[in-house]
Amino acid sequence: MDSRLSAVGDPPKSSWTSWASSAGSSQSKLATSVADRIVQDIISRGWPVGQVLGSEPELLERYGVSRAVFREAVRLVEHQQIVRMRRGPGGGLMITAPTIDAIADAVQLTLYWLDARLDEVFDAREILEGLAVRLVPDHLDERRADRLRAIVAGERSGAVRDHREIHAALATSTGNPAIELFVDLLNRVTGLYFSDTSLLTSQTLDAAHHAHARIVEAVVAGDGDLACSRMERHLRAEATFLREHGSTSQLIDPAVVLTGHTEGKKAEEVAREILRSVVERKSQPGDLLGSEGDLMERFAVSRAIIREAVQLLEHYDIAAMRRGPGGGLIVLEPSITAVTDVIALYLEYHGIQVADVFELRVGIEMALVDLAIDAMDPTRSDQLHEALENERGASDELFKEAAQDLHAVIASVAGNRVLELVSVVVVRLRRMHEGGDVSSLARRSAGTEVTRAHEAIVEGLVGGDKVASRRRMRRHLQELSTFYD
Ligand SMILES: [Zn+2]
Ligand SMILES: [Zn+2]
Repeated sequence: MDSRLSAVGDPPKSSWTSWASSAGSSQSKLATSVADRIVQDIISRGWPVGQVLGSEPELLERYGVSRAVFREAVRLVEHQQIVRMRRGPGGGLMITAPTIDAIADAVQLTLYWLDARLDEVFDAREILEGLAVRLVPDHLDERRADRLRAIVAGERSGAVRDHREIHAALATSTGNPAIELFVDLLNRVTGLYFSDTSLLTSQTLDAAHHAHARIVEAVVAGDGDLACSRMERHLRAEATFLREHGSTSQLIDPAVVLTGHTEGKKAEEVAREILRSVVERKSQPGDLLGSEGDLMERFAVSRAIIREAVQLLEHYDIAAMRRGPGGGLIVLEPSITAVTDVIALYLEYHGIQVADVFELRVGIEMALVDLAIDAMDPTRSDQLHEALENERGASDELFKEAAQDLHAVIASVAGNRVLELVSVVVVRLRRMHEGGDVSSLARRSAGTEVTRAHEAIVEGLVGGDKVASRRRMRRHLQELSTFYD
């Protein structure tokens, strides 16, 4: 078992956010559903940043819950960075815009918790950035082409020093906000594995600048395939260089990931400290980290701060408080649901379109097919067959969840946690943009079609046939897009 992640087998969610997954009291369940309604309210109003959703008394009345439940719900949405409680006259729950820093922070925390390896990050970058430059020629206008050329010239003259700039500009040139976001995130994450930039000698920088220039040449000439192979070669060279360098670790340095945005927020500091000790001691799911009292003593903080820290840990499925005798804070199975919600909300705010989601999904699922075949073994083959079995046995209401599960299992079988994260975000975004009313008859006949397509895909994967699996997956995704969207 090389992965601690289990995205598979989650209970079906009634809403597209997954707060419901954290086990808890009936108060927590109520808070979760209120948090969901707050998100829906923000989206249905068109996300007016700065607008106040209502004062606390108004919202208590609107949602019909106690103050304690409401405050718990507010903390949940505050973690998503989409609202802030403003005190004082004219105050209330104010709508804010999620920032890239907050998203990056959540992603870094999750990848640290999953023990994601540098190899996984680079493999994911190769696939995503390869896909990006393949798409750029279709979206390239004069303005974007000029910008790319200007960065290449700037690198040559020394005016552009940030290595990430050309990667970001290429991703932006796709016009696809999801691709832009993931490329940006993974470029940031790469930096967490090696904090020592002095290891970039002038020779390696020259090689990188040369590679950048050749990639830009290819996209400007309209040759996406050539740009893609040049990008892949460039990233492989960079990965090899970093891997060979002694100070580069395969795992994220906690000193880098666990600082950042914690100033003045004691509860966050405590939560990060707990996470660090869980990872460093290699605690296993089910391990007891101590009672509320133990934690108050260990960190010399109040009960209120411990409770807030615990809520953050529960939010990211890191640990949860078990009540009763012998209870306390216990380690959970790592999961990516919380971070995928944060990313999906960010993209929703930035107006992602169905076509953008589809474009990214096809690229990712094609790559996952290849990786899944490379990783295939009897256990993985059993996992795929089990997912098919669940799908065949699913009731009409649960069919869609079960059918999406197969894609999650393929992503997990592929064995790259970073790509798995991208693929779960894509499925979630698609669900947010799904057309609603489909007659149950249409759903059933489409369901049969979907299951038949899934069976053919699994047969290809287990049989090791990349060409057939890719073809079947592509056709399946195209059929899905015409049916639902
Ligand atoms: Zn580069
Ligand atoms: Zn499917």
